[in-house]
Amino acid sequence: MSSVRTNIQPNLLDYEETLTSFSWDNIAGELSGLPQGKGLNIAYEAIDRHSTGNLKDTVAFRFIRKNRVVDDFTYSMLQKQTSKFANVLKNLGIKKGERVFSLAGRIPELYITALGTLKTTAVFCPLFSVFGPEPVFQRMNKGEASVLVTTSALFEKKIKQLMEKLPSLRFIILSDAAGHLSGKVLSWSKLMEQASDEFIIPKTDPEDPALLHFTSGTTGMPKGALHVHKAVLTHYITGKFVLDFHPGDIFWCTADPGWVTGTSYGIIAPLVNGVTSIIDEEEFDAKRWYSILEEHKVNIWYTAPTAIRRLMRMDINVKETYDFKNLRVILSVGEPLHAEAVIWGEENFGFPILDNWWQTETGGIMIANYASVKVKPGSMGKPLPGVEAAIAKVNDKEITIISSPDKQGHLVLKKGFPSLFRAYLNDEERYNKCFLGEWYLTGDLAKKDADGYFWFIGRADDIIKTSGHMVGPFEVESTLMKHPFVSEAAVIGKPEPSIGELVKAFVVLKSGNEPNDEVKMNIMGFARKEMGPAVAPKEIEFVESIPKTRSGKILRRLLKARELGLPEGDISTLEQN
Ligand code: AMP
Repeated sequence: MSSVRTNIQPNLLDYEETLTSFSWDNIAGELSGLPQGKGLNIAYEAIDRHSTGNLKDTVAFRFIRKNRVVDDFTYSMLQKQTSKFANVLKNLGIKKGERVFSLAGRIPELYITALGTLKTTAVFCPLFSVFGPEPVFQRMNKGEASVLVTTSALFEKKIKQLMEKLPSLRFIILSDAAGHLSGKVLSWSKLMEQASDEFIIPKTDPEDPALLHFTSGTTGMPKGALHVHKAVLTHYITGKFVLDFHPGDIFWCTADPGWVTGTSYGIIAPLVNGVTSIIDEEEFDAKRWYSILEEHKVNIWYTAPTAIRRLMRMDINVKETYDFKNLRVILSVGEPLHAEAVIWGEENFGFPILDNWWQTETGGIMIANYASVKVKPGSMGKPLPGVEAAIAKVNDKEITIISSPDKQGHLVLKKGFPSLFRAYLNDEERYNKCFLGEWYLTGDLAKKDADGYFWFIGRADDIIKTSGHMVGPFEVESTLMKHPFVSEAAVIGKPEPSIGELVKAFVVLKSGNEPNDEVKMNIMGFARKEMGPAVAPKEIEFVESIPKTRSGKILRRLLKARELGLPEGDISTLEQN
């Protein structure tokens, strides 16, 4: 399946050749670096270096408000606004390394906060605005927040009650308050009014901390992964090679900055590559999304499997209803992208959806499908040039790389790429456990085929051991979803003494299908035929919806806890239906 759609030549023309010629030092040379050799700062690469040149009047961010009013910020406007905010922080006495949090929807102030904070060499930490007070507290407490930027409504609802419990929190800045509420609770507009729009970015070591991201917690308590300014090399090169940014492109990343994708690719990568980003304040809405793609002439669209699956379920004739002639590349991340979804992309848009794999800890895309490389539907693709990925057998203290193809094992990445996290905040032991020798252990299981494509199996924690077989839930879910009645499925292992664990599936039926025994037997029979009786689910339960994180990942851990009557653990990222 080829993925080249138009006559625009992909930036990564020859994957194999680039693998051999690639060096991170050369990539650093494609960026500017701070003037006078003062180091490397993400915000400088993203904005300041563009703001006086050819790109100064190019739209950097196009905000689409809930009511669809559009707010454009050019590179030069963004440069001034972020410098102003950097001065706000400086005037408040915020120092290098201190943490500036945001708790807001996708409003301009959030984006200005992110980039302004990076300019000062303080550390930016975005939170999902839908978090309740407890998860907000946990993260701000663990992250020792000095400043929080939020809205008046969120402040009233979630923060006021926490203030006494957060001794490190010095200032709260309200994006929409007309005046200061106290010496500690301040008005964004008042502070910005008084701040100069000239700010010289201080010396920034490429290893200086820049971003703190709490992981989405599909398997346990959230951890704070710390990234450094040097990660911008990955943001830049993945923007160029994977997202295939070209001058003049209009790009839309649908992710919220509360999830790492919404920061690395919703803020940094498109700016570093000098393109225009669309930011929609509203949540998923199929018709709204399609109309944004059409109306704003989006060229490159980065979204998640959960959204794609929802679009696939809608009764909308995409080809006849919309004109997507500008759309060139569609990409997906966060969860496995089923082969059907890749093919659905081909049928509806004329080219396959490009799946790619990475994690909060890797800071940027690591394994990807590329516009110029043949797509094998269902595969995550091949490693980014500059990243060495392998399948390994991992014991307590030993790691053995598996070189023969199609063998299942741990997905590991060789240390040394710039965006790999540098710490789990206040948890050195847990951090150290992620490494064996020169390898970073991702916690995922995968296999690599003879052509070098990687195939996702599952999170190591989610793997089901049944009658001597190791079963990845994704494999079973993918099969179930091929059944014409099944809309969504999630699979767990349920302890069963005689066979270790039995495969249990939670199934959402497509509308119009009755959840009765006949349908259940029909689906079970189908799964047995497709996968064999050892792997097919032995139990099926019909449910109304599948619990997922805000970023669209199935919370199998939660399904399992509920099934076994165990504590639910951290469910702060649970998407409320
Ligand atoms: P997070 O750090 O919350 O973004 O979660 C990262 C995890 O999401 C990875 O370790 C994988 O388990 C999963 N993931 C991300 N992208 C993909 C993908 N393309 N295919 C399969 N799993 C993915």
